[in-house]
Amino acid sequence: MPSPATPPKDRAMRPAARTLVLLGGGHSHVAVIRAFAINPPAGTTIIVIGRDAKTPYSGMLPGLIAGHYTNAEAHIDIAVLCRFAGIRFIHDEATGLDLACQRVLCRTGAPVPYDCLSIDIGASPALRASGIGIKPIAPFLAHWEALCARALATPERLHIGVVGAGAGGVELVLALQFRLEGLLRAAGRPHDAPRFSLFGQAATILPGFAEPARRRLERILHRRSIGVFTGQPIGTAADGVLQRADGMRFALDDVIWATGGAPAPWLARSGLAQTGLALDPKGFIAVHDTLQSTSHPAVFAAGDIASVIGRPSPKSGVYAVRQGKPLAANLRRALSGQALVPFQPQRHALALIGTGDRRAIAVKGSWSAEGRWVWLWKDQIDRRFMSRYTNLPDHARADHPR
Ligand SMILES: Cc1cc2nc3c(=O)[nH]c(=O)nc-3n(C[C@H](O)[C@H](O)[C@H](O)COP(=O)(O)OP(=O)(O)OC[C@H]3O[C@@H](n4cnc5c(N)ncnc54)[C@H](O)[C@@H]3O)c2cc1C
Repeated sequence: MPSPATPPKDRAMRPAARTLVLLGGGHSHVAVIRAFAINPPAGTTIIVIGRDAKTPYSGMLPGLIAGHYTNAEAHIDIAVLCRFAGIRFIHDEATGLDLACQRVLCRTGAPVPYDCLSIDIGASPALRASGIGIKPIAPFLAHWEALCARALATPERLHIGVVGAGAGGVELVLALQFRLEGLLRAAGRPHDAPRFSLFGQAATILPGFAEPARRRLERILHRRSIGVFTGQPIGTAADGVLQRADGMRFALDDVIWATGGAPAPWLARSGLAQTGLALDPKGFIAVHDTLQSTSHPAVFAAGDIASVIGRPSPKSGVYAVRQGKPLAANLRRALSGQALVPFQPQRHALALIGTGDRRAIAVKGSWSAEGRWVWLWKDQIDRRFMSRYTNLPDHARADHPR
Protein backbone atom coordinates (compact mmCIF):
# COMPACT_ATOMS: atom_id res chain seq x y z
CA MET A 1 0.00 0.00 0.00
CA PRO A 2 1.50 3.41 -0.87
CA SER A 3 2.40 5.60 2.07
CA PRO A 4 0.10 8.51 2.90
CA ALA A 5 2.77 10.89 1.61
CA THR A 6 2.65 9.49 -1.94
CA PRO A 7 2.06 12.31 -4.44
CA PRO A 8 -1.68 12.43 -4.85
CA LYS A 9 -2.28 13.36 -8.46
CA ASP A 10 -2.13 9.95 -10.09
CA ARG A 11 -3.22 7.89 -7.11
CA ALA A 12 -6.74 7.45 -8.38
CA MET A 13 -7.85 3.82 -8.64
CA ARG A 14 -5.08 1.56 -9.90
CA PRO A 15 -5.43 -2.22 -9.89
CA ALA A 16 -2.30 -2.58 -7.71
CA ALA A 17 -3.52 -0.19 -5.04
CA ARG A 18 -5.62 -2.12 -2.58
CA THR A 19 -6.81 -0.60 0.66
CA LEU A 20 -10.55 -0.15 0.65
CA VAL A 21 -11.96 1.97 3.46
CA LEU A 22 -15.68 1.78 4.15
CA LEU A 23 -16.57 4.89 6.11
CA GLY A 24 -19.77 4.48 8.14
CA GLY A 25 -21.77 1.35 8.85
CA GLY A 26 -24.96 2.45 7.10
CA HIS A 27 -27.50 0.34 5.26
CA SER A 28 -25.50 0.10 2.00
CA HIS A 29 -22.24 -0.77 3.73
CA VAL A 30 -23.63 -3.64 5.78
CA ALA A 31 -24.62 -5.24 2.46
CA VAL A 32 -21.09 -4.61 1.11
CA ILE A 33 -19.47 -6.13 4.22
CA ARG A 34 -21.68 -9.20 3.93
CA ALA A 35 -20.99 -9.57 0.20
CA PHE A 36 -17.22 -9.28 0.80
CA ALA A 37 -17.41 -11.75 3.68
CA ILE A 38 -18.80 -14.35 1.31
CA ASN A 39 -16.57 -13.46 -1.64
CA PRO A 40 -13.70 -11.12 -0.67
CA PRO A 41 -12.13 -8.97 -3.41
CA ALA A 42 -8.70 -10.45 -4.15
CA GLY A 43 -5.64 -8.85 -2.58
CA THR A 44 -7.59 -6.10 -0.82
CA THR A 45 -7.29 -4.96 2.77
CA ILE A 46 -10.67 -3.72 3.90
CA ILE A 47 -11.15 -1.37 6.84
CA VAL A 48 -14.48 -0.18 8.22
CA ILE A 49 -14.55 3.06 10.23
CA GLY A 50 -17.73 3.50 12.27
CA ARG A 51 -18.83 6.03 14.87
CA ASP A 52 -21.24 3.46 16.30
CA ALA A 53 -20.32 -0.19 16.78
CA LYS A 54 -24.02 -0.97 16.52
CA THR A 55 -25.98 0.64 13.74
CA PRO A 56 -29.77 0.98 13.89
CA TYR A 57 -31.88 -0.62 11.18
CA SER A 58 -34.25 2.14 10.04
CA GLY A 59 -37.20 -0.19 9.41
CA MET A 60 -37.28 -1.19 13.09
CA LEU A 61 -36.51 2.21 14.58
CA PRO A 62 -40.12 3.30 15.19
CA GLY A 63 -40.89 -0.19 16.57
CA LEU A 64 -37.94 0.15 18.95
CA ILE A 65 -39.24 3.53 20.13
CA ALA A 66 -42.77 2.13 20.51
CA GLY A 67 -41.37 -0.71 22.65
CA HIS A 68 -41.99 -3.59 20.22
CA TYR A 69 -38.31 -4.42 19.68
CA THR A 70 -35.29 -4.59 21.94
CA ASN A 71 -32.12 -2.67 21.15
CA ALA A 72 -30.41 -5.88 20.05
CA GLU A 73 -33.26 -6.76 17.69
CA ALA A 74 -33.16 -3.35 15.98
CA HIS A 75 -29.38 -2.87 15.70
CA ILE A 76 -26.77 -4.49 13.47
CA ASP A 77 -23.55 -5.16 15.33
CA ILE A 78 -20.97 -3.85 12.86
CA ALA A 79 -18.02 -5.03 14.95
CA VAL A 80 -19.36 -8.60 14.94
CA LEU A 81 -20.21 -8.43 11.24
CA CYS A 82 -16.67 -7.24 10.46
CA ARG A 83 -15.20 -10.06 12.53
CA PHE A 84 -17.33 -12.49 10.54
CA ALA A 85 -15.98 -10.98 7.33
CA GLY A 86 -12.36 -10.90 8.52
CA ILE A 87 -12.41 -7.11 8.15
CA ARG A 88 -10.74 -4.65 10.52
CA PHE A 89 -13.20 -2.39 12.34
CA ILE A 90 -12.02 0.98 13.64
CA HIS A 91 -14.47 2.38 16.18
CA ASP A 92 -13.96 6.08 15.53
CA GLU A 93 -15.69 9.06 14.01
CA ALA A 94 -14.46 10.64 10.80
CA THR A 95 -14.00 14.39 11.16
CA GLY A 96 -12.60 15.20 7.74
CA LEU A 97 -11.15 13.94 4.50
CA ASP A 98 -7.67 14.66 3.25
CA LEU A 99 -8.50 14.04 -0.37
CA ALA A 100 -5.10 15.13 -1.63
CA CYS A 101 -3.29 12.45 0.38
CA GLN A 102 -6.21 10.02 0.32
CA ARG A 103 -6.70 9.75 4.08
CA VAL A 104 -9.71 9.77 6.38
CA LEU A 105 -9.16 12.02 9.41
CA CYS A 106 -10.58 10.64 12.64
CA ARG A 107 -11.63 12.16 15.96
CA THR A 108 -9.35 10.04 18.16
CA GLY A 109 -7.12 7.82 16.04
CA ALA A 110 -4.49 8.39 13.37
CA PRO A 111 -5.57 9.26 9.82
CA VAL A 112 -6.52 6.15 7.84
CA PRO A 113 -5.05 5.97 4.31
CA TYR A 114 -7.10 4.54 1.48
CA ASP A 115 -6.75 3.65 -2.16
CA CYS A 116 -10.49 3.41 -2.55
CA LEU A 117 -12.99 5.02 -0.17
CA SER A 118 -16.72 4.42 0.13
CA ILE A 119 -18.83 6.73 2.29
CA ASP A 120 -22.17 5.70 3.83
CA ILE A 121 -22.56 7.92 6.89
CA GLY A 122 -26.23 8.91 6.56
CA ALA A 123 -27.57 12.36 7.39
CA SER A 124 -28.92 13.96 10.57
CA PRO A 125 -31.49 16.71 11.13
CA ALA A 126 -29.67 20.05 11.33
CA LEU A 127 -29.10 20.97 14.99
CA ARG A 128 -31.33 23.68 16.50
CA ALA A 129 -31.06 25.59 19.76
CA SER A 130 -33.88 23.64 21.41
CA GLY A 131 -34.61 19.92 21.50
CA ILE A 132 -32.90 16.86 20.06
CA GLY A 133 -32.58 15.31 16.60
CA ILE A 134 -33.78 11.77 15.90
CA LYS A 135 -30.26 11.12 14.60
CA PRO A 136 -27.65 10.20 15.75
CA ILE A 137 -29.79 7.47 17.24
CA ALA A 138 -27.73 6.56 20.32
CA PRO A 139 -28.11 9.95 22.10
CA PHE A 140 -31.72 10.16 20.95
CA LEU A 141 -32.56 6.79 22.51
CA ALA A 142 -30.95 7.87 25.81
CA HIS A 143 -32.98 11.09 25.66
CA TRP A 144 -36.14 9.10 24.94
CA GLU A 145 -35.69 6.85 27.97
CA ALA A 146 -35.15 9.98 30.11
CA LEU A 147 -38.28 11.56 28.64
CA CYS A 148 -40.33 8.45 29.47
CA ALA A 149 -39.04 8.61 33.06
CA ARG A 150 -39.87 12.33 33.22
CA ALA A 151 -43.42 11.76 31.95
CA LEU A 152 -43.93 9.17 34.70
CA ALA A 153 -42.34 11.32 37.42
CA THR A 154 -44.09 14.61 36.74
CA PRO A 155 -47.67 15.13 37.91
CA GLU A 156 -48.22 17.42 34.91
CA ARG A 157 -49.24 16.50 31.42
CA LEU A 158 -46.28 17.09 29.07
CA HIS A 159 -46.63 18.62 25.63
CA ILE A 160 -44.18 17.14 23.12
CA GLY A 161 -43.52 18.51 19.65
CA VAL A 162 -42.15 16.62 16.65
CA VAL A 163 -40.81 18.78 13.84
CA GLY A 164 -40.86 17.16 10.41
CA ALA A 165 -44.06 15.75 8.92
CA GLY A 166 -42.56 13.40 6.35
CA ALA A 167 -42.92 9.63 6.71
CA GLY A 168 -40.20 9.51 9.41
CA GLY A 169 -41.79 12.27 11.52
CA VAL A 170 -45.32 10.85 11.24
CA GLU A 171 -44.15 7.35 12.13
CA LEU A 172 -42.10 8.76 14.99
CA VAL A 173 -44.88 10.80 16.62
CA LEU A 174 -47.25 7.80 16.48
CA ALA A 175 -44.61 5.52 18.04
CA LEU A 176 -43.76 8.03 20.80
CA GLN A 177 -47.40 8.47 21.67
CA PHE A 178 -48.12 4.73 21.75
CA ARG A 179 -45.26 4.05 24.16
CA LEU A 180 -45.99 6.94 26.54
CA GLU A 181 -49.71 6.22 26.63
CA GLY A 182 -48.93 2.61 27.50
CA LEU A 183 -46.53 3.61 30.28
CA LEU A 184 -48.98 6.04 31.87
CA ARG A 185 -51.87 3.60 31.54
CA ALA A 186 -49.77 0.95 33.29
CA ALA A 187 -49.02 3.50 36.02
CA GLY A 188 -52.76 4.04 36.51
CA ARG A 189 -52.70 7.58 35.06
CA PRO A 190 -54.20 7.23 31.57
CA HIS A 191 -55.42 10.84 31.58
CA ASP A 192 -51.91 12.21 32.11
CA ALA A 193 -50.52 10.86 28.84
CA PRO A 194 -48.61 13.66 27.06
CA ARG A 195 -50.08 15.78 24.28
CA PHE A 196 -48.36 15.63 20.93
CA SER A 197 -48.04 18.18 18.12
CA LEU A 198 -46.55 17.57 14.70
CA PHE A 199 -45.07 20.45 12.70
CA GLY A 200 -44.37 20.50 8.96
CA GLN A 201 -43.22 23.11 6.53
CA ALA A 202 -45.07 21.74 3.48
CA ALA A 203 -48.78 22.37 3.01
CA THR A 204 -49.67 18.80 4.10
CA ILE A 205 -48.11 15.90 5.94
CA LEU A 206 -46.24 13.37 3.78
CA PRO A 207 -45.42 15.63 0.84
CA GLY A 208 -44.56 13.42 -2.11
CA PHE A 209 -47.00 10.67 -1.10
CA ALA A 210 -50.21 10.06 -3.05
CA GLU A 211 -53.43 11.56 -1.71
CA PRO A 212 -55.11 8.31 -0.48
CA ALA A 213 -52.12 7.36 1.70
CA ARG A 214 -51.90 10.87 3.06
CA ARG A 215 -55.59 10.87 3.95
CA ARG A 216 -55.27 7.57 5.78
CA LEU A 217 -52.52 8.99 8.00
CA GLU A 218 -54.32 12.30 8.51
CA ARG A 219 -57.33 10.31 9.79
CA ILE A 220 -55.16 8.31 12.16
CA LEU A 221 -53.42 11.41 13.54
CA HIS A 222 -56.80 13.07 14.05
CA ARG A 223 -58.28 9.98 15.75
CA ARG A 224 -55.29 9.87 18.10
CA SER A 225 -55.65 13.59 18.93
CA ILE A 226 -52.23 14.55 17.63
CA GLY A 227 -52.19 18.24 16.65
CA VAL A 228 -50.98 18.79 13.08
CA PHE A 229 -49.54 22.19 12.15
CA THR A 230 -48.34 22.30 8.56
CA GLY A 231 -47.70 24.95 5.93
CA GLN A 232 -45.16 27.04 7.84
CA PRO A 233 -41.45 26.63 8.56
CA ILE A 234 -40.22 26.94 12.13
CA GLY A 235 -38.63 30.36 12.51
CA THR A 236 -37.00 30.10 15.92
CA ALA A 237 -36.71 27.43 18.57
CA ALA A 238 -35.34 28.37 21.96
CA ASP A 239 -36.00 27.44 25.60
CA GLY A 240 -38.81 25.10 24.63
CA VAL A 241 -40.69 27.69 22.59
CA LEU A 242 -41.17 27.07 18.89
CA GLN A 243 -42.11 30.03 16.80
CA ARG A 244 -43.32 29.50 13.28
CA ALA A 245 -42.47 31.92 10.49
CA ASP A 246 -46.04 33.31 10.72
CA GLY A 247 -45.47 34.20 14.39
CA MET A 248 -47.56 31.40 15.95
CA ARG A 249 -45.85 30.24 19.18
CA PHE A 250 -45.94 26.89 20.96
CA ALA A 251 -44.59 26.25 24.46
CA LEU A 252 -43.38 22.66 24.52
CA ASP A 253 -41.82 20.45 27.18
CA ASP A 254 -39.72 18.64 24.60
CA VAL A 255 -38.96 19.06 20.90
CA ILE A 256 -37.79 16.24 18.64
CA TRP A 257 -36.44 17.10 15.20
CA ALA A 258 -37.23 14.64 12.43
CA THR A 259 -36.71 17.05 9.57
CA GLY A 260 -34.93 15.96 6.40
CA GLY A 261 -31.33 15.08 7.08
CA ALA A 262 -28.45 17.45 6.50
CA PRO A 263 -24.96 16.29 5.56
CA ALA A 264 -22.20 16.29 8.19
CA PRO A 265 -20.70 19.82 8.28
CA TRP A 266 -17.12 18.52 7.98
CA LEU A 267 -17.92 17.18 4.52
CA ALA A 268 -18.31 20.69 3.13
CA ARG A 269 -15.10 21.73 4.88
CA SER A 270 -13.24 18.78 3.35
CA GLY A 271 -14.59 19.71 -0.02
CA LEU A 272 -13.73 23.36 0.10
CA ALA A 273 -10.43 23.32 1.93
CA GLN A 274 -8.87 20.42 0.13
CA THR A 275 -9.23 19.33 -3.45
CA GLY A 276 -12.93 19.91 -3.74
CA LEU A 277 -15.09 16.80 -3.36
CA ALA A 278 -18.05 17.52 -5.61
CA LEU A 279 -21.22 18.10 -3.58
CA ASP A 280 -24.78 18.78 -4.73
CA PRO A 281 -26.36 22.17 -3.88
CA LYS A 282 -27.50 20.82 -0.48
CA GLY A 283 -24.03 19.55 0.39
CA PHE A 284 -24.54 15.82 -0.27
CA ILE A 285 -21.83 13.92 -2.14
CA ALA A 286 -22.44 14.11 -5.89
CA VAL A 287 -22.10 10.66 -7.47
CA HIS A 288 -22.68 9.16 -10.90
CA ASP A 289 -25.24 6.36 -11.31
CA THR A 290 -22.31 4.02 -10.62
CA LEU A 291 -22.12 5.56 -7.09
CA GLN A 292 -18.65 6.91 -7.92
CA SER A 293 -17.91 10.53 -6.96
CA THR A 294 -18.28 12.89 -9.89
CA SER A 295 -14.97 14.54 -8.92
CA HIS A 296 -12.84 11.83 -7.30
CA PRO A 297 -12.73 8.41 -9.02
CA ALA A 298 -11.33 6.76 -5.86
CA VAL A 299 -14.32 7.87 -3.80
CA PHE A 300 -17.77 6.26 -3.78
CA ALA A 301 -20.84 7.15 -1.74
CA ALA A 302 -24.24 5.58 -1.05
CA GLY A 303 -27.30 5.98 1.15
CA ASP A 304 -28.63 9.31 2.43
CA ILE A 305 -25.24 11.05 2.11
CA ALA A 306 -25.08 10.41 -1.64
CA SER A 307 -26.87 12.33 -4.34
CA VAL A 308 -27.05 10.54 -7.69
CA ILE A 309 -26.82 13.37 -10.18
CA GLY A 310 -29.66 13.30 -12.67
CA ARG A 311 -31.46 10.46 -10.85
CA PRO A 312 -32.25 11.62 -7.33
CA SER A 313 -33.87 9.03 -5.05
CA PRO A 314 -35.78 9.68 -1.84
CA LYS A 315 -33.56 9.60 1.24
CA SER A 316 -34.77 6.43 2.86
CA GLY A 317 -33.42 3.20 4.25
CA VAL A 318 -35.07 1.22 1.45
CA TYR A 319 -33.05 3.05 -1.20
CA ALA A 320 -29.87 2.85 0.88
CA VAL A 321 -30.34 -0.93 1.19
CA ARG A 322 -30.95 -1.24 -2.56
CA GLN A 323 -27.68 0.55 -3.32
CA GLY A 324 -25.69 -2.03 -1.32
CA LYS A 325 -25.50 -4.66 -4.06
CA PRO A 326 -24.50 -2.36 -6.95
CA LEU A 327 -22.06 -0.57 -4.64
CA ALA A 328 -20.33 -3.86 -3.73
CA ALA A 329 -20.17 -4.84 -7.39
CA ASN A 330 -18.71 -1.50 -8.48
CA LEU A 331 -16.19 -1.38 -5.64
CA ARG A 332 -15.05 -4.84 -6.71
CA ARG A 333 -14.78 -3.64 -10.34
CA ALA A 334 -12.93 -0.47 -9.33
CA LEU A 335 -10.45 -2.46 -7.24
CA SER A 336 -9.65 -4.72 -10.18
CA GLY A 337 -9.51 -1.91 -12.75
CA GLN A 338 -12.70 -2.90 -14.58
CA ALA A 339 -15.29 -0.54 -16.02
CA LEU A 340 -18.09 0.39 -13.62
CA VAL A 341 -21.72 -0.49 -14.32
CA PRO A 342 -24.56 2.01 -13.72
CA PHE A 343 -27.57 0.92 -11.77
CA GLN A 344 -31.19 1.94 -12.12
CA PRO A 345 -33.05 2.56 -8.87
CA GLN A 346 -36.70 1.53 -8.64
CA ARG A 347 -39.05 4.38 -9.42
CA HIS A 348 -41.53 3.48 -6.66
CA ALA A 349 -40.48 1.59 -3.57
CA LEU A 350 -42.95 0.00 -1.18
CA ALA A 351 -43.23 2.13 1.97
CA LEU A 352 -44.51 0.42 5.12
CA ILE A 353 -45.33 3.04 7.73
CA GLY A 354 -45.99 1.79 11.25
CA THR A 355 -48.61 3.58 13.30
CA GLY A 356 -47.09 2.57 16.63
CA ASP A 357 -49.99 0.34 17.68
CA ARG A 358 -48.83 -2.81 15.87
CA ARG A 359 -50.67 -1.70 12.77
CA ALA A 360 -49.19 -0.18 9.61
CA ILE A 361 -49.94 1.41 6.28
CA ALA A 362 -48.54 0.09 3.00
CA VAL A 363 -47.99 2.59 0.19
CA LYS A 364 -46.70 2.07 -3.33
CA GLY A 365 -47.36 4.83 -5.83
CA SER A 366 -51.07 5.59 -5.64
CA TRP A 367 -51.95 2.24 -3.99
CA SER A 368 -52.29 1.99 -0.23
CA ALA A 369 -53.69 -0.38 2.40
CA GLU A 370 -53.72 -0.50 6.18
CA GLY A 371 -54.28 -2.84 9.07
CA ARG A 372 -52.70 -5.23 11.52
CA TRP A 373 -51.82 -7.57 8.66
CA VAL A 374 -49.61 -4.82 7.16
CA TRP A 375 -47.70 -4.59 10.45
CA LEU A 376 -47.26 -8.38 10.54
CA TRP A 377 -46.01 -8.26 6.94
CA LYS A 378 -43.61 -5.40 7.74
CA ASP A 379 -42.40 -7.19 10.88
CA GLN A 380 -41.68 -10.33 8.85
CA ILE A 381 -39.76 -8.38 6.19
CA ASP A 382 -37.74 -6.50 8.83
CA ARG A 383 -36.90 -9.60 10.86
CA ARG A 384 -35.87 -11.46 7.69
CA PHE A 385 -33.62 -8.53 6.74
CA MET A 386 -32.03 -8.47 10.20
CA SER A 387 -31.42 -12.21 10.26
CA ARG A 388 -28.97 -11.76 7.36
CA TYR A 389 -26.79 -9.76 9.74
CA THR A 390 -27.43 -11.43 13.06
CA ASN A 391 -27.43 -15.16 12.28
CA LEU A 392 -23.66 -15.35 11.99
CA PRO A 393 -21.37 -18.25 12.84
CA ASP A 394 -20.15 -18.48 16.43
CA HIS A 395 -16.58 -17.49 15.58
CA ALA A 396 -17.84 -14.02 14.62
CA ARG A 397 -19.14 -13.54 18.16
CA ALA A 398 -15.85 -14.67 19.77
CA ASP A 399 -13.86 -11.80 21.18
CA HIS A 400 -10.91 -12.07 18.80
CA PRO A 401 -10.37 -11.47 15.10
CA ARG A 402 -10.63 -14.41 12.75
C1 LIG B 1 -38.12 7.98 12.72
C2 LIG B 1 -37.59 7.51 11.40
C3 LIG B 1 -38.14 6.40 10.84
C4 LIG B 1 -37.69 5.93 9.62
N1 LIG B 1 -38.28 4.83 9.10
C5 LIG B 1 -37.87 4.39 7.92
C6 LIG B 1 -38.48 3.23 7.36
O1 LIG B 1 -39.39 2.63 7.94
N2 LIG B 1 -38.03 2.81 6.16
C7 LIG B 1 -37.04 3.46 5.49
O2 LIG B 1 -36.69 3.04 4.40
N3 LIG B 1 -36.44 4.55 5.99
C8 LIG B 1 -36.83 5.04 7.19
N4 LIG B 1 -36.24 6.15 7.70
C9 LIG B 1 -35.11 6.79 6.97
C10 LIG B 1 -33.81 6.01 7.24
O3 LIG B 1 -33.53 6.01 8.62
C11 LIG B 1 -32.61 6.58 6.51
O4 LIG B 1 -32.93 6.92 5.20
C12 LIG B 1 -31.49 5.53 6.49
O5 LIG B 1 -31.06 5.25 7.80
C13 LIG B 1 -30.30 5.98 5.66
O6 LIG B 1 -29.36 4.97 5.67
P1 LIG B 1 -27.83 5.31 5.49
O7 LIG B 1 -27.14 4.04 5.19
O8 LIG B 1 -27.68 6.42 4.51
O9 LIG B 1 -27.32 5.92 6.88
P2 LIG B 1 -27.56 5.49 8.38
O10 LIG B 1 -28.50 4.39 8.52
O11 LIG B 1 -27.85 6.76 9.11
O12 LIG B 1 -26.14 4.95 8.84
C14 LIG B 1 -25.03 5.79 8.93
C15 LIG B 1 -23.92 5.07 9.65
O13 LIG B 1 -22.72 5.83 9.57
C16 LIG B 1 -22.15 6.02 10.85
N5 LIG B 1 -21.54 7.35 10.87
C17 LIG B 1 -22.19 8.54 10.78
N6 LIG B 1 -21.30 9.54 10.78
C18 LIG B 1 -20.07 8.98 10.88
C19 LIG B 1 -18.76 9.49 10.93
N7 LIG B 1 -18.51 10.80 10.88
N8 LIG B 1 -17.74 8.62 11.04
C20 LIG B 1 -17.96 7.29 11.08
N9 LIG B 1 -19.19 6.74 11.04
C21 LIG B 1 -20.23 7.58 10.93
C22 LIG B 1 -23.30 5.89 11.84
O14 LIG B 1 -22.83 5.43 13.07
C23 LIG B 1 -24.19 4.84 11.14
O15 LIG B 1 -23.75 3.55 11.47
C24 LIG B 1 -36.65 6.62 8.93
C25 LIG B 1 -36.07 7.75 9.51
C26 LIG B 1 -36.55 8.21 10.71
C27 LIG B 1 -35.93 9.44 11.30
